[in-house]
Amino acid sequence: MTHLVERGPTTDRFAGRHIADVMARVEAKNPGEPEFHQAVREVFRSLEPVLVRQPRYVEQRILERLVEPDRVISFGVNWVDDQGEIHVNRGYRVQMSSSIGPYKGGLRFHPSVNQGLLKFLAFEQTIKDSLTTLPMGGAKGGSDFDPKGRTESEIRRFCQSFMTELYPYIGEFTDVPAGDIGVGEREIGYLFGQYKRIAKRFVGSLTGKGIKWGGSAIRQEATGYGVVYFARDMLATRGDDLEGKTCLVSGSGNVAQFTVKKLLDMGACPVTLSDSDGFVHDAGGIDREKLEWVMELKQNRRGRIREYADRFPGVIYVPRAPGADNPLWSVPADCAFPGATQNEISARDAKHLVAGGVGLVAEGANMPTVPEAVDLFVESGVLYAPSKAANAGGVAVSGLEMAQNMQLTQWTPQEVDRRLQEIIQHIHDTVCRTAEEYGRPGDYVTGANVAGFVKVADAMLDESPI
Ligand code: NDP
Repeated sequence: MTHLVERGPTTDRFAGRHIADVMARVEAKNPGEPEFHQAVREVFRSLEPVLVRQPRYVEQRILERLVEPDRVISFGVNWVDDQGEIHVNRGYRVQMSSSIGPYKGGLRFHPSVNQGLLKFLAFEQTIKDSLTTLPMGGAKGGSDFDPKGRTESEIRRFCQSFMTELYPYIGEFTDVPAGDIGVGEREIGYLFGQYKRIAKRFVGSLTGKGIKWGGSAIRQEATGYGVVYFARDMLATRGDDLEGKTCLVSGSGNVAQFTVKKLLDMGACPVTLSDSDGFVHDAGGIDREKLEWVMELKQNRRGRIREYADRFPGVIYVPRAPGADNPLWSVPADCAFPGATQNEISARDAKHLVAGGVGLVAEGANMPTVPEAVDLFVESGVLYAPSKAANAGGVAVSGLEMAQNMQLTQWTPQEVDRRLQEIIQHIHDTVCRTAEEYGRPGDYVTGANVAGFVKVADAMLDESPI
């Protein structure tokens, strides 16, 4: 007999057993999906005291319902390259939860994309979107298509074919995808153009659109800016700020670029950037002029970060050695902003960061820190902001883009930025308050997991008690 049907007071032991049971079932039912297991385990480990307070979550099998996607859509994407050769990729959309709003979450084009990776991202997205204060559910999608080395026309043909398959499942009130790794404004343009070609309607079925065709001011900047606003709010709890702080940033795409930009606005000194080939360390600081050069390099020329070291004197370039520690995280600094990809900070990297003096880690990428490294940060008293709280600015401004589309209006950059800062402050305060309420003051992991979970769980109970 399963523990789930037991009634009566939910003790710590009972709640712990229930979580272990559900976790075991997640692993058995979703084999070969380690990132999904990791993301679920990461949230579940905060939930024991929540289940003790709210036995209905156990009775109503909320955990099991939450980890089962509403829908997983998988489709073939056939396209033709410039030489006339036919290629076949696989596309996906994981619609995880629509309990608090239409499905919402990005599309990732990267060779590592598979169903398990997207389930992890859709699960994280569900908790994150719940924290934003806006009515958005959780989803994620993408394809194992590798845009690297592809021409403009090949990328366009791929996007058009991808959208032809995805089209029936999305819409402004059902599911509203955005960008992620490998999907920026250019790709959103091709996807949106194809959506309109089929739908014969101009509606906000995607976010991250260009400012001249239904996009929102600050959407491109929002994730990077939001991470830095969150870091500012964390430091303020210790009477500190970012002025003069040496900062490590990884990645050199959308999130990393606008993290650097906002750090410069705040008087901080960003000193690193990376891509999948290696990283650059510019001890003198990446200033505005150098950042503009990086933006041109990455957005227009699709170049590699190693070119930064050729262009600017005194810069060290370190190529990536697969399997080894990432030496970027051994550079002494005050703050770290991982902005590339999942699991990019290992336990050993975390030790180097702490030894190098890092007192704050704010995650721009999704789940960039392995669980042992998270524990080390929390135990060491590092101000550590998990991605579901720290990088929620991107999807928050996507939500604001949806609101503007519905109202056929466009707010000024100042207005969107003001709302973004308000939302980030709200998330920060909610996370802190929740952590305190659960006896873990200053623990942003517990605060984010619990606050994000409870809102979704309560919506599930209101909408579909069994
Ligand atoms: P981009 O495609 O613009 O940039 C990704 C950057 O990360 C590139 O520098 C890329 O290098 C590097 N990277 C990607 N995969 C790997 C890898 N396996 N190992 C090392 N480096 C890698 O993506 P974004 O900046 O949009 O996204 C970065 C992270 O932020 C992701 O985790 C994403 O999920 C998250 N995020 C993004 C949001 C957004 O609004 N865009 C919102 C919330 C989270 P290379 O060019 O060599 O591949």
